[in-house]
Amino acid sequence: MANGGGGAKILIVEDNALNLKLFSDLLRAHGYRVEGLADGREALDRARALRPELIITDIQLPHISGLELIEHLKSDRDLAPVPIMAVTAYAGRSDEERVRAAGAEAYVSKPISVMRFVDEVQGLLALATVDGK
Ligand code: MN
Repeated sequence: MANGGGGAKILIVEDNALNLKLFSDLLRAHGYRVEGLADGREALDRARALRPELIITDIQLPHISGLELIEHLKSDRDLAPVPIMAVTAYAGRSDEERVRAAGAEAYVSKPISVMRFVDEVQGLLALATVDGK
């Protein structure tokens, strides 16, 4: 696959091991540096330490909901500018609205379309670059 990632760092929060591997392999194949986390409770600390250019999070997580996690990330002054892409098995319109209301910039439903997934990632990273982040 084409290497167009430019080495941007992406933090993925996903408790399903197969999905985490799929997302990680896909993004690494596109040249991104990826760190995966299964436990959403660790995400805020990892994000502060890693300073990723993008955060991808599942919504259905144990211990903390992805919506709550998005709200925490967006409440953090340093992390608020980092774009967030939510990935969830839900596909209903109200779910997308809740994800966006929590502060996520993008929403992709599972099972993912590989092209759509990569397109969204590239779009969010391009936006962040334009914003001077
Ligand atoms: Mn999950």
